[in-house]
Amino acid sequence: MDSLNRVQIKKGMWTKCKECSSILYTESLKNNFYICEKCNYHMRISAKERIREIIDKDTFKEMFKEIKTKNVLNFVGYDEKIRVAKIKSSSDEVVTVGVGSINGISVALGVMDSNFIMGSMGTAVGERITRLVEYASYNKLPLILFTASGGARMQEGILSLMQMAKISAAIGRYKEKGGLYISVLTDPTTGGVTASFAMQGDIIISEPGALIGFAGKKVIENTIKEELPKNLQTAEFLLERGQIDHIVNRKELKEFLFNILDINEGMHYESGC
Ligand SMILES: [Zn+2]
Repeated sequence: MDSLNRVQIKKGMWTKCKECSSILYTESLKNNFYICEKCNYHMRISAKERIREIIDKDTFKEMFKEIKTKNVLNFVGYDEKIRVAKIKSSSDEVVTVGVGSINGISVALGVMDSNFIMGSMGTAVGERITRLVEYASYNKLPLILFTASGGARMQEGILSLMQMAKISAAIGRYKEKGGLYISVLTDPTTGGVTASFAMQGDIIISEPGALIGFAGKKVIENTIKEELPKNLQTAEFLLERGQIDHIVNRKELKEFLFNILDINEGMHYESGC
């Protein structure tokens, strides 16, 4: 027998860090919130994993799952792309929305997953988020959206772009009623999502090292014919310029969110709302 066959390594047992190339034991990585223990790189995680990390056990109730993606423009190859994305992400769309608790405080939560067609925003994504915002508004719940997106979904054309205005308007109405909206930007948050609801948070948080921007860096450089700073479009760059409020390590994120929610509840209690 070939000596190489004697040791069987289970598939997925080890994960390579994209940032520092360290080989990490996947189980330890999971226990460490999918953060590289060598370089603090925050790996991209699924919506399911995010909910597991942030929401109290067994309290999450998914909503609006009946809203599904349709190939309304009959875009060639789109149906197949959706089918593959569902398998790859173990999810039925980019965004999962619902209600759950953070250390006992109820919240309306939406989580985007970049594993599903690069987190692109189509009509189903827009409709699910809008309904979540309206649900939060009606039920006076704080709203938390985790963003991760490559931008608009080109297979849905102008209908995709319209979601920006639709979600933004719903958030505007929610805020007018006094709702608290916390936006958490994760890697990558770009395109139409950045140009709309990602940057509308009353409080905007980001994970370390997250890519946040509108157009790609090369597109900007080619347009303005100038070289741009190396760290442009990172969470750290935006924090320095006041475009986001805080960068929070994933391990401390649940507690950080809870503290904001707790203060918010106290304010409502004092004002009798
Ligand atoms: Zn690393």
